[in-house]
Amino acid sequence: MSKVMPTYYNQMPVSFEYGRGAWLWDQEGNQYLDSLAGIAVCALGHAHPAVTATIIEQAQKLLHTSNTYHIAKQIELAEKLTHVSGMEQAYFCNSGAEANETAIKLARLYAKKKGITEPMIVTMKNSFHGRTMATLSASGTERIQMGFEPLVKDFVYVNLNDIAELDAIVDKYQSNIIAIMLEPIQGDGGIRIATEEYLTHIRRICDQHDWLMIFDEIQTGLGRTGKWFCHQHLSIKPDIMTLAKALANGLPIGACLVRGKACNLFGPGKHGTTFGGSPFVCAVACTVLDTLENENVIENAKRMGEYLVDKLKTDLQYPCVREVRGRGLMIGVELDKPCMELMAIGLKNKVLFNITSNTVVRLLPPLIINKSEADEIVARLGKTIAALD
Ligand SMILES: *Cc1c(COP(=O)(O)O)cnc(C)c1O
Repeated sequence: MSKVMPTYYNQMPVSFEYGRGAWLWDQEGNQYLDSLAGIAVCALGHAHPAVTATIIEQAQKLLHTSNTYHIAKQIELAEKLTHVSGMEQAYFCNSGAEANETAIKLARLYAKKKGITEPMIVTMKNSFHGRTMATLSASGTERIQMGFEPLVKDFVYVNLNDIAELDAIVDKYQSNIIAIMLEPIQGDGGIRIATEEYLTHIRRICDQHDWLMIFDEIQTGLGRTGKWFCHQHLSIKPDIMTLAKALANGLPIGACLVRGKACNLFGPGKHGTTFGGSPFVCAVACTVLDTLENENVIENAKRMGEYLVDKLKTDLQYPCVREVRGRGLMIGVELDKPCMELMAIGLKNKVLFNITSNTVVRLLPPLIINKSEADEIVARLGKTIAALD
């Protein structure tokens, strides 16, 4: 019996020793092209020199003090994040699920402020917001919720991009709804993109009713889609935005950003964390943000993303390939059948990706890939899909 609880599905029989940029080496010295980046986490690739330098430098100074004291690096990170996002305040925690817990708690407080005692939050079917009790309850995905009932109450789920269905729910529950929460592109749900029309509609409804619009940009944020944040492709802004994954390029951190009516809802004692926002993780996150900016990484993600999607569309001419879709370097290749076994075939072909939603190959390469690495992703993935057919 394994001494590690077997919580992960289809875990690959390989363990990596070291990495450099978009490449990983296993214990036998085999080299792999990483098109998953630790699930959108290692945006700057592996062993980025600026990140490594900050880790060493900060480790020699100070790791942790707790939030009993001011943390200068945390304040600096909040300033950087609010600057690039146009949000106004930040709260730091240790994971995506915690960032979304924070957003949900804020929505509940906002409801109380408005005199709503049984507030509801609208979320999307097929969404993924995390594995804690509140965030799995928010995730409109039975596979994630099954077995953990009773769920946290009063989430109501609608189909992404179905305006008529949303309007009907709004009519039905309008005196209880307090927020609408969604991923601008569903990541674990199979790279399903919210339409501009749908997001604009949600923004309008939230303004009209004075509700909170909550964007979970944990996967889409921080340059992944070719902008700092995915919603910046449109001219709308959320009231609350959650981040995690790429924020410290592999160290655990989450953030919940707020603006306008979502500011100052937490008073002292209302929320907190022991580890969150430590000098160590915040120093690394500051370096990640600086590097994304100074090395034009986001511009590269946009260019390489367009190139990769075009090339996948032209080169992946297999009968089982139904659609290639994505934004920036968040890309899904949907097949016409379940294809979990592709991950193992990809491993043989030395290319790493994962399968979401059973039928979708998800590519989330580091944002620093160059053209020849993009070509190599397409070639290796093509060979992998060919072996399936
Ligand atoms: C990964 C992810 C989460 C959960 O983050 P954890 O750090 O695993 O808790 C939540 N929402 C989205 C959109 C994600 O991609």
